[in-house]
Amino acid sequence: MHLVLLGPPGAGKGTQATILARDLRLAHISTGDMLRTAVREGSDLGLAAREYMDRGELVPDELVIALIQDRLGAPDARGGFILDGFPRNVSQAERLDEILEELNLPLELVLNLQVPEAELIRRMTGRRVCPGCGESYHLVFNPPKSLGVCDQCGEDLIQRDDDKEATVRMRLEVYERENAPLVEYYGEAGLLVDIDGRGTVEQVYDRIRSELK
Ligand code: AMP
Repeated sequence: MHLVLLGPPGAGKGTQATILARDLRLAHISTGDMLRTAVREGSDLGLAAREYMDRGELVPDELVIALIQDRLGAPDARGGFILDGFPRNVSQAERLDEILEELNLPLELVLNLQVPEAELIRRMTGRRVCPGCGESYHLVFNPPKSLGVCDQCGEDLIQRDDDKEATVRMRLEVYERENAPLVEYYGEAGLLVDIDGRGTVEQVYDRIRSELK
């Protein structure tokens, strides 16, 4: 399957995309993860992207499109993919259409995960990650055994800059502005399906699976 997963930051796109990719043997392509790796590695792309990411803004289209073009050209994408966090605006969606046409891998469905704003803020500001091994936690939903310390490797947990409340609000604003036209774009193409993103991971996953049948 060739899928796009849309949804505001904190809606659970990464979680759902990971499970879907495993169950349906799809390549899970997350531009947020790819950009964070580039930042960690200190590559040219990472250096260019970092300031935007820390402010909660979108990284310029050219950088993200080059990244996605490369990734979709890799052999595993031919077996199916789920795009998580891309596209983020109509111009990225238009470029994606061109790239997929060249690769002869047309989109089949766009899943639009919907979660109310207050719930998104609660989910995101509670996230903590381990700078050592990358494991993630949540103060309320998935706390570490001992407060502030990674269960896996014992490092002190941190809050990602872009999970801090001011940045979270900024990210949600950017999302609102850019996503509405994107929803319209895919709606007109007849590809869009709304998914209620409230409830447990399993409940949301079941809703997604019933749309894929
Ligand atoms: P995410 O983990 O998907 O919320 O992405 C984290 C950050 O990476 C975003 O706040 C943006 O700064 C950047 N980013 C991820 N995907 C894109 C994209 N498709 N276009 C522009 N910026 C992106």
